Amino acid sequence: MEFRLALQPKRERKRALLTHWQHPRFHAYFTGGQSYPDIVAEALTSALATVNFCWDSSPAFTELEIVMVNWMGKIFNLPNEFLFNGNSETSLGGGAMQNGGSDAMLLAFLVARHKRITEICGNIDIHCRDKEHQVLNKLVAYASTEAHSSVEKAALVTLVHMRPVQADKNFQMRGKDLEKQVQKDLEKGNIPFVAFVTLGTTSTGAYDQLKEIIPVAKKYNLWIHVDASYGGNAWCCEEFHYQMDGLKDVDSININLHKTFLHNVPGTYFWTRNQRVLKESMTVDHAYLHARHHGSATDFRNWGISLSRRALCLKTWFILRTYGVRGMQEYIRRLTRLTTHFRKHLEKDPRIEIVGQQVFSLVCFRLKIDNNNNDECNEMTKALVEYINHSQKLCITFAKCNGMSICRFSIAHQEQYSREILFKAGGGVVGSPVFVTQNTLRSTSSYASLIHSRGYSPVRDQSSAPNESNTRGLSPRK
Ligand SMILES: *Cc1c(COP(=O)(O)O)cnc(C)c1O
Repeated sequence: MEFRLALQPKRERKRALLTHWQHPRFHAYFTGGQSYPDIVAEALTSALATVNFCWDSSPAFTELEIVMVNWMGKIFNLPNEFLFNGNSETSLGGGAMQNGGSDAMLLAFLVARHKRITEICGNIDIHCRDKEHQVLNKLVAYASTEAHSSVEKAALVTLVHMRPVQADKNFQMRGKDLEKQVQKDLEKGNIPFVAFVTLGTTSTGAYDQLKEIIPVAKKYNLWIHVDASYGGNAWCCEEFHYQMDGLKDVDSININLHKTFLHNVPGTYFWTRNQRVLKESMTVDHAYLHARHHGSATDFRNWGISLSRRALCLKTWFILRTYGVRGMQEYIRRLTRLTTHFRKHLEKDPRIEIVGQQVFSLVCFRLKIDNNNNDECNEMTKALVEYINHSQKLCITFAKCNGMSICRFSIAHQEQYSREILFKAGGGVVGSPVFVTQNTLRSTSSYASLIHSRGYSPVRDQSSAPNESNTRGLSPRK
């Protein structure tokens, strides 16, 4: 069949079923990034189709990845200990790209687990793991109740106990709360081994109290992994560096460039100050993997689980070469400005309460209810999210934190401008004095009646109804 024909059938149907992540009014999740250099790098990577498991299998991309690990580390102002210093093999620190934040979390789990088990059992004999299994039975990992779901998933697949540490009212994990949990486990004879610290949580963009957590983690010999999947993107700008206080004392860090760095998924960087332990936990040897430079050059297969790896670093190279650090800083600042602008509009509306602190490109809010009944407020807030999403004019995300239902609104597009953010051209969705236009009411869903029954009426303003160009890509199937 000709390629032209492969593209043809049921084109209409495919379009209707596509969720338009790159639409300027898509504000759900953390909107994945995309950019021209990213697309070109993707095409070139596929065209070259190299498989980068060791230096000899792909010298250029191995060298480029090493350089990108250092460039990104420097751009994000990471402490020098996390970079490749001198020879990439003998350097204490360094990093590698991973297939997403969840893989980075799993990697941190595996490395920390390996470290603790070998500290107790000595060298590992892969043919007999009885001693290790006895230790495994007692291992405990810690993360905030606000940590990303991938931390729980990593605990699930690595068979270790997971202790959620209740986040405080600002959605942050505190040192003393972590310590209480650790002590409880020690009393039971368990073995604490790793703590996950989130800088920029997924639900509300909160920052755990790293400075308080570090002394606790050190006292109990916990590996500290910092999940800066989202928040770390902003560290290319000086004004966010205050969030990094204490980072030099953690063991590993990951940042997802596919959150707000114009990379498409996956664009995860993982750094550690202890590359020896990481590689020890990930290295296996077979004759067919031995190439000419085996042992003397960096083989990225020893930096994660995958053997076959894509040349993801090419995206970073193209993006940095195209926009430069300054261009990326401007972009990050623009996202922050737009989000702040939007939050200020929300703050003017007496029916809305901002939840958490907006520092970067995420703002969270909920409806206020006269009688302050939390259940009712939760129900209404959920209905609002469903109502907005049903309208297909705008897409946001529902989340729950500390028993509170919230609306999440994230911004991460090159094409987003304040006109899109405020939906002014369309008569005003969120952010203007009303939530929904008459047009969005074409979805006569049960959410709409719930919202209406509480007096959240739309503006009846025909003149400002959205036109086709405003709804481009998000219109429902006719
Ligand atoms: C997105 C996110 C992750 C997971 O990253 P994936 O690449 O989607 O697996 C982990 N932690 C936080 C805080 C995130 O925002």
